[in-house]
Amino acid sequence: MTLTNLPPTAELQALDAAHHMHPFTANGALATKGARIITRAEGVRLTDSEGAELIDGMAGLWCVNIGYGRRELAEAAARQMQELPYYNTFFQTSHVPAIKLAAKLADLAPGDLNHVFFAGSGSEANDTNIRLVRQYWALKGAPERRVIIARRNGYHGSTMGGASLGGMAAMHAQGGLPIADIVHIDQPYWWGEGGEMSPEEFGLARARLLEEQILAIGPERVAAFIAEPVQGAGGVIIPPESYWPEIQRIVAKYGILLIADEVITGFGRLGHWFGCQSYGIRPHIMTIAKGLSSGYQPIGGSIVCDEVANTIAQDEFNHGYTYSGHPVAAAVALENLRILEEEGIIDRVHAETAPHLAQAWGRLADHPLVGEAVSRGLMASLALTPDKATRAKFQSEPGTVGFICREYSFGNNLVMRHVGDRMIIAPPLVITPADIDELVARARKTLDQTLAHLQAEGMLKAAA
Ligand SMILES: *Cc1c(COP(=O)(O)O)cnc(C)c1O
Repeated sequence: MTLTNLPPTAELQALDAAHHMHPFTANGALATKGARIITRAEGVRLTDSEGAELIDGMAGLWCVNIGYGRRELAEAAARQMQELPYYNTFFQTSHVPAIKLAAKLADLAPGDLNHVFFAGSGSEANDTNIRLVRQYWALKGAPERRVIIARRNGYHGSTMGGASLGGMAAMHAQGGLPIADIVHIDQPYWWGEGGEMSPEEFGLARARLLEEQILAIGPERVAAFIAEPVQGAGGVIIPPESYWPEIQRIVAKYGILLIADEVITGFGRLGHWFGCQSYGIRPHIMTIAKGLSSGYQPIGGSIVCDEVANTIAQDEFNHGYTYSGHPVAAAVALENLRILEEEGIIDRVHAETAPHLAQAWGRLADHPLVGEAVSRGLMASLALTPDKATRAKFQSEPGTVGFICREYSFGNNLVMRHVGDRMIIAPPLVITPADIDELVARARKTLDQTLAHLQAEGMLKAAA
């Protein structure tokens, strides 16, 4: 189905360069090159304005869990727009889609995570979380518990609050971040930072940084710890198995709140409804967005435990967004959850596609450029290295080789992202084993081209 006759690609690219400021992009450089313009999508495949077909190895931005082209979601949106396109939930009013979605999420979420505060995105939801945990402790008579501990190279969004919780140095460098009372500890990235330790030793050591930080700040000043079950935007960093149980022990010992940012790991990415269930994590609050609506509508939220929600309910919570629980977004999310559930998509990830990806992707570890090839559920990454044996970094500026590799990948009609010199994928959850094989074949071809390029340019050198 074609919606319109497209103007020529060059014309679109010129207008794009003249008027459209892209997120996380050097806009000057993009202007001379021209953006690739995506016009349609179906299943796991995108079509661009030149008619080329790409495998979307990133499910958009980690969000299109049920794949593209599901008419049921379009129909749910159209029905809701005709019935009640908008109403708010601020002043003692409510509406059916927000009620049903909150109840459904309470049903799906583990433990006593029974209450939902809606936002328009993951960043907004994490801003909400900052206020939720500080207000919780204030109502508990401990207003000095304000500090939130997060992790370097974690990602929690791009608003002032979200970017402050995140541990991205390049984001902090612009705009005077982080905001006050947010501190960061090092990440459980064994391949890159584990040195001589075994992964299990390293996982424990990195978890114990939380305890050290709590003691350095003073436990009576710490409100919460926030982390992604598996780091996504940081490069699909899968923690050693020893990490989360130790974090759980420390959080319980000092009685601080645990926020699991499930924006990527929620809604099936790791083969369970939530990443917490995959790791046995028991959070007080979960951040959700992305796969909640499979990206068909912008919606996010915080799923909150009984104790925190009941405490917050004691007073007016002076916080909310015009689009909190937007009826059209909520109706689309409900339809998305229905499809995930009724079609057994998450069970299939667990039983079939995640094991298949682990095998097929894992075989890339034999490639001379690849230091590790790891996956958990349907998210996976490769560490590119000039020397596997020593887990060496490249002599070139970090990200130089990753960028070259991504360019070849794009040329091979595979959307694979780079984070520094790691290559990452997180395809739609409906990807088939045959499409996984095709994806991995394109990734291998991309690695061969990248290796040849580095050899030709004399770039296969390790940093001193
Ligand atoms: C994408 C992401 C966010 C931010 O969500 P937005 O909808 O882009 O605001 C927050 N946390 C994690 C873990 C994410 O991956």
